[in-house]
Parts: sequence; structure tokens; C-alpha cells
Amino acid sequence: MRTLRTVAELREALAPARRAGRTIGLVPTMGSFHEGHLSLIRRAREQCDELVVSLFVNPTQFDQQADLRRYPRDEAGDARLAAEAGVDYVFAPSEAEMYPAGFATTVSVAGITEQLEGAQRGRAHFDGVATVVTKLFNIVGPDVAYFGQKDAQQALVIKRLARDLDIPIRIEVCPTVREPDGLAMSSRNALLSPQERSRAVAISRGLRRAQEVVAGGERDSDKVAGAARAEMTSEGVEPEYLELVSADTLAPVSVIDGEVLAVVAAQVGAARLIDNQIMTTNGRP
Ligand code: AMP
Repeated sequence: MRTLRTVAELREALAPARRAGRTIGLVPTMGSFHEGHLSLIRRAREQCDELVVSLFVNPTQFDQQADLRRYPRDEAGDARLAAEAGVDYVFAPSEAEMYPAGFATTVSVAGITEQLEGAQRGRAHFDGVATVVTKLFNIVGPDVAYFGQKDAQQALVIKRLARDLDIPIRIEVCPTVREPDGLAMSSRNALLSPQERSRAVAISRGLRRAQEVVAGGERDSDKVAGAARAEMTSEGVEPEYLELVSADTLAPVSVIDGEVLAVVAAQVGAARLIDNQIMTTNGRP
């Protein structure tokens, strides 16, 4: 496995594979790997001939400077795990490589970015995500790129931009990987104190409660959301938002019918955590 830091080096390294018609896979990450990242990497390894994992804590998608400063980083550990997982190239560019002096272009996806995370974190968040992911697609030229369902809105934004900008790529969305007690894995979980860690489980417990209530026949979104919220607040977790939305458009739904996503964001100590659960009217994902 090689770690490359410049666009030119990576393009040169991939050129022979591209000429030979080998499939190239990309897993974009901000590093500090956990099983969620590794599940994407393993899926990509199974499906692609050449595998690139990018490691870049993208400053433009952080709305809070403090969040950016304390974001966990462990390039050496990540490189070890990537090598073990059979990754061919880790692309770990500097900020100056990605945003050289005079950088002036933003990719901005309308509509789907305006609610939930976009509303809470501001327009710049998804602009930052869309711009850096477009750059990574152009740098690597992958056949397939892998994203996690954990960041459901992000996955929809990326599918939209690939379609709108005619980027010849398949986007594969992989299931959320959880800790044994249900907490969705996240690099930000490392910021939780032991007490906060035990409170944080209320987020996934609330989502499971929503699923149970739907399985029990409830179709009124407010009632389902109310049951989930009660589960969270009983542990002292106050959601920033907790909504039932269409899995395709993220538009709020008032009656549960077909595939609906329960989406939640909550601040627990220093960590802002997000999670979601796909629900169908038979209560099974
Ligand atoms: P990040 O490094 O947090 O930007 O995440 C990189 C990729 O891993 C994104 O596509 C995330 O959606 C995905 N990811 C993060 N956490 C999980 C998880 N618990 N399960 C599955 N995928 C995840």
C-alpha cells in the first residue's frame, strides 16, 4: 500500500490500471477509522480491482472551528488498518493541495441540502461536502464510490450531484455499523466521556422505539416521533431535530407509508451525533 499526497502522484499511480480497464473504487473519509469505515473499505475491496481510500479532514464542511480543531486524527493508525484491509492507495493530501491559493469554485446542491443537517449547520456544510467530493471524483476517476447510510442526507446529496453533473460513477450506500449496544459508530464517539457514552445510546434506542411503534401499527408521524423523543429525553438527550421524512426526498411525512427515515441529531457533551433508521410500514428496515 502506498500513501500519496498529491493529485499528480495519484493520477500517475492510477494511470496504468485505468488504461488496462481495471475498476477503480474510492472510499472518501475524514479518517480516524472505525468499523463503519472498514465495512465500506471491505465492500469496495470485494468489488474493485484498485482501491483508493482518501483521508482528508475537509475544513470547508465544518461550521464550527472548535469542532474542526478537536476532530480526531490518526493517520498512522488509519494507514495500518488500510494496509491490513488490502487498500492499494491512501490519498492524504494537504489543505494546500486541495485548496491552493486562489481557489474560487463551489459545488452547491439545492433542495435536498436545505433541511435537517443543512438547516442546522448552514449552507456552507453541504457546499463543503459537495465541493470536496466532486474534487475527489475528478482526482481519482473511480468507477464506484462508497458512502455510509449513517450520513443519509450526505449520501443523497452525493447521488444528486453525480447525476446532475453527469459524473460517470456508481454510488454505493452501505448500512450503518453499530456498537453492540446500538450506538452508531462515529469518529466523534471518541470525544465522549464514559458517562456521555452511556447517555448517547439513547439516540439509537429512541430510533428503535420508533421502529417498534410503527411495527405495532402506529402511522401518525408525530406520535412515532414523540415516542422516540421520550426515550431520548429520559436519558437527558435533547434532539436538535428528530423527524420522520421521506427516504428519497427528505420531505417531512405526516403519515407513515412506504419507506420512511427517522432522522436525528443530538449534542452529547462535546460530540454532535447523528443517526437514522429506515422504517417501512411493516416495521422492518
Ligand atoms: P467520515 O470519515 O465520518 O466522513 O465517514 C466516511 C464515510 O464513512 C462516510 O461515507 C460515512 O457515511 C461512512 N460512515 C461513517 N460512520 C459509519 C457507520 N457507523 N456505518 C457505516 N458507514 C459509516
